[in-house]
Amino acid sequence: MPEAVLALEGLHKRFGALAATDDVSLTLRPGEIHALIGPNGAGKSTLIAQIAGSLRPDAGRVLLGGVDVTGESVAARARRGLGRSFQVSSLAEPLPAIRNVMIAVQALAGHSFRFWKPVARDPRLVEPAMAALERMGLGHRAATPVAELSHGERRALEVACALALRPRVLLLDEPMAGLGPEGSAHLTELLERLKAEVPILLIEHDMEAVFRLAERISVLVAGRIIAHGDGDTIRRDPQVRDAYLGD
Ligand code: ADP
Ligand code: MG
Repeated sequence: MPEAVLALEGLHKRFGALAATDDVSLTLRPGEIHALIGPNGAGKSTLIAQIAGSLRPDAGRVLLGGVDVTGESVAARARRGLGRSFQVSSLAEPLPAIRNVMIAVQALAGHSFRFWKPVARDPRLVEPAMAALERMGLGHRAATPVAELSHGERRALEVACALALRPRVLLLDEPMAGLGPEGSAHLTELLERLKAEVPILLIEHDMEAVFRLAERISVLVAGRIIAHGDGDTIRRDPQVRDAYLGD
């Protein structure tokens, strides 16, 4: 069993009387997609925020590559290779797709690019940005302004921006939201290819995508993981059918 790239140990987070995450532990191993599913309000986004570092747990630890990062900032965790998809709103609408990815590459390179003018043609930015676009099936859309991209292409572009930062782990919070069956199927294919390179913790309501992609599934309900296992185990679990999947 390969060592976990990401490990959560007993994460607790309360908002007043509400236990938003209640003793949550899980791991993410190289080469896998681990899906986290559960009803609205279960605590999935609260968990992601504790992993990314924007929210401090009341108790428990977050380990990245075996290192305890629980006390570290969002930026420090990102530098250690914790990647997450950007929100749609963070894409620069008038700029071509590739410029959006180049901004991410530039952020990774830090200060070394500050005095480079013009950066638009700098191969040190263009090449890794193009590579990230191609991995998300957007090579042919590099020059297209974000405003002209479809909803599905924007979701793929957000993942490309995260990939350009060369993450060791990718956190995706509902990447299929609003995509429709065709868009979901396309993004599913892209993620399937991606997982060999970077393991993904995937929060997703699209169960077809989850069952196709995830090696393991954890079910979060009211802040607690009520079931964990492969797709067949989760599909058959009566508690999960009751709390989430329905019949
Ligand atoms: P999910 O992503 O699974 O839909 P969330 O993590 O967004 O669930 O929310 C889990 C619970 O915590 C919900 O009941 C939500 O109302 C509550 N919650 C989330 N963030 C806060 C906050 N900053 N303050 C108070 N309550 C919060
Ligand atoms: Mg959420």
